[in-house]
Amino acid sequence: MAPEVITLSSFATHADGAEHFFGTRLSAVPVTPGRASAHGAERQGHRAAVILSVKQVHGTDALVVDRPVEQGEMFEGGWDALVTNQPGLMVTVRTADCVPVLLHDPVQRVVAAIHAGWRGAVAGIVPKTVALLASRFGARVEDVRMAIGPSAGPCCYEVDEPVLTRLRDVFPEWHSVVSPVDAQTAHLDLRAFVRRQALREGLEAERIATVDACTICQPEVFFSYRREGVVKATMVSGIALLS
Ligand SMILES: [Zn+2]
Repeated sequence: MAPEVITLSSFATHADGAEHFFGTRLSAVPVTPGRASAHGAERQGHRAAVILSVKQVHGTDALVVDRPVEQGEMFEGGWDALVTNQPGLMVTVRTADCVPVLLHDPVQRVVAAIHAGWRGAVAGIVPKTVALLASRFGARVEDVRMAIGPSAGPCCYEVDEPVLTRLRDVFPEWHSVVSPVDAQTAHLDLRAFVRRQALREGLEAERIATVDACTICQPEVFFSYRREGVVKATMVSGIALLS
């Protein structure tokens, strides 16, 4: 039986003053993009009262929420990272092959949820969001914890020359995250790419956890754009500071 949500025991626990989850296709986490809603996931043991999801645009901009949010509040615009220091507010992203990345600084008490597809990852959304935690909230990079969720895996995620060209342009260690298939295509390990970007940004290796699960080859657990060929549904992943 597949799990409803995946949580990491080493990351953002209640003992750390936080909670998090990575969704699966069996999750019942209702969100409306652009609207803060009641969390209503008590049965999963979550305490956050309000859950926020916004329109995603495969960019690198972050929405910073540094004031209390009421249920029903609207957020018009597109962002691929949500950052908050507000306890009780669950910030979420929706994915189905892209990488959901969660950040937690237990010292400055700030969390972030990031939607990192190849475009956002190549454009640096993860390092940019880590830098934002530092500039806006005084986070020290060595205090920041990261969890990298289920996504298209290196076993299945085939990319072609335009993607590889962009990757080579921005990432000197690109060799370490691709395995060639033929002259024009390769398998990309998007999770490893995100992890290496975080290491280059100064995060400590032992503070980065990865869920080693592929959305494409585990159809009983995950939705996948690649496998299903259409946008059937997405999985919600989120993180909150406890009140
Ligand atoms: Zn796979």
